[in-house]
Amino acid sequence: MQLVLPPNHNESSFEAALRAFAGVVGERWVFTSDQDRDTYVDHYGFDVNAHVASAAVAPASAEEVQAIVKLANEHKLPLWPISRGKNFGYGSAAPVVSGSVVLDMSRMKKIWMDVDNGTVLVEPGVGFYDLFDYVEQNNIPYWISPIGNSWGSVAGNALDRGVGYTPYGDHSDRVCGLEVVLPDGDLVRTGMGAMSNSEAWTLHPYGFGPHWDQMFMQSNFGIVTKLGMWLMPKPETVVSLDMELDKKEDLGWAIDTLAPMRRSGLIQQSPSIGNWLRAAAVLTKRTDWYNGEGAIPEDVISAIRQRFNLGWWSINLRIYGPEEITNATANVVQNTFAARTQYPMRRGLWREGMPREQQPFAGIPITFPLANAGWHGGRGAHVGFSPALPQSGDKALAQFQRTFDRYNEFGMDYHGSFALGERHITNVNQVLYDRDNKAMVAQVDQFFRALLSDASVQRYGEYRAHIEYMDLIAQSYDFNNGALWRLNDRLKTALDPNGIVAPGKSGIWGSTPRRGGAV
Ligand SMILES: Cc1cc2nc3c(=O)[nH]c(=O)nc-3n(C[C@H](O)[C@H](O)[C@H](O)COP(=O)(O)OP(=O)(O)OC[C@H]3O[C@@H](n4cnc5c(N)ncnc54)[C@H](O)[C@@H]3O)c2cc1C
Repeated sequence: MQLVLPPNHNESSFEAALRAFAGVVGERWVFTSDQDRDTYVDHYGFDVNAHVASAAVAPASAEEVQAIVKLANEHKLPLWPISRGKNFGYGSAAPVVSGSVVLDMSRMKKIWMDVDNGTVLVEPGVGFYDLFDYVEQNNIPYWISPIGNSWGSVAGNALDRGVGYTPYGDHSDRVCGLEVVLPDGDLVRTGMGAMSNSEAWTLHPYGFGPHWDQMFMQSNFGIVTKLGMWLMPKPETVVSLDMELDKKEDLGWAIDTLAPMRRSGLIQQSPSIGNWLRAAAVLTKRTDWYNGEGAIPEDVISAIRQRFNLGWWSINLRIYGPEEITNATANVVQNTFAARTQYPMRRGLWREGMPREQQPFAGIPITFPLANAGWHGGRGAHVGFSPALPQSGDKALAQFQRTFDRYNEFGMDYHGSFALGERHITNVNQVLYDRDNKAMVAQVDQFFRALLSDASVQRYGEYRAHIEYMDLIAQSYDFNNGALWRLNDRLKTALDPNGIVAPGKSGIWGSTPRRGGAV
């Protein structure tokens, strides 16, 4: 990737800034070649040239991050912080504003664990595999909450409000205490961390006064250098309940059956109802099934489902705890479903000492879902579109039908799931495409905008956004003419008058001119 200079820089001012960075981290940790820049493009982006880093700098400590931030202010050079930069589907490691320097914190890999209380404090570079190894190798009786792409990091994922599959799967909600470098280089600790040497930093989230942790998530108000998180005590047993639903319409009653059990706390994990393509795209390629134009027709879908014994939808549910409780809970869940449907439920029991299910449900990190990018062949990718909606079967079904119709209109294969939070549903759509197929790439943008516009009419907002669409999504949160974004911009301007930290992130620009004169 060729050099795109940072805004308001020429080659010599840019080189001067990089020399200053090298003075902090050492020359070998400043990356400036074309090949280096390739590392930080949006590998899943349909236009990699739209978001390009000019260079990257990799600090080894919070002190080095502070020093770099201070220099970035002096040189008026925007930084784009990443933990491991594996945010595939949402922009990977690439910045909103081309020419930004990626602040790559993947070298910062320290882990501190409070074993008695089941909490960890991690640096940004700690990946899900790192934390898993740490816990397992030290025989620590806790499970981590990994994700479908466990190549990513514990901190980066939580800061983007990522989700996992265990009862601790709402990751930003399990964060307890942060250490943050502010845009002027100051270092703060939130919650109890604000009291020097407090042993309760990762135990009591609030401390005294306002609670700031959420303010640093999906934002550009600071750079997180340490993140506290609660881990789930290793359960005595896990009961699995899996069910295949034959018809598209089954989604509605299934949501209405699960929602009350989720609200009451009977089901503590976030059950997900996903369609047949979730499994098929990981295990096979589209050309194994179909070579025609347009979305895969229903008769081919039936053949795929038959081969893998899949419903149109599959429900995966897990119950964790002592056996008396998991058994009793599973009985209630099964009886509740039996009152509504004849579909059989597959029930499994895991006990301590048995081999664990090789899935994030069982605290095991995985990366095999990345294979779904190969569905269309070529250099595959996906873009994520994930609005949040109320927990209603009718509304979920209508949302599905609208979205499904759009997939058909654009000739794309439907890849969607509905995950139940405690009071809402997140409708995760992975728009799979082949980056080498020009015709397909040309319409991904139009397709995404159509999905967004449909959801916005219903007043459903995205829970998380790809860098290309952050302004658009922010604009859809429009109460009182975008009052929330005026507040965000005021805060940004106050904290970061030079626009150093991730300008444009989540549609927050502060004093930085908006990209492309966007909204
Ligand atoms: C097949 C597949 C499956 C996936 N499954 C899941 C899943 O189950 N759950 C899920 O949540 N996601 C999933 N993802 C999305 C994504 O890959 C993960 O969320 C991944 O953890 C994000 O990468 P990362 O942790 O390296 O974060 P990063 O890319 O480093 O960062 C994520 C965001 O946070 C910001 N950020 C990172 N670190 C800091 C910091 N220290 N200070 C301030 N801001 C920071 C970055 O600027 C970026 O916007 C999946 C993706 C694919 C392709």
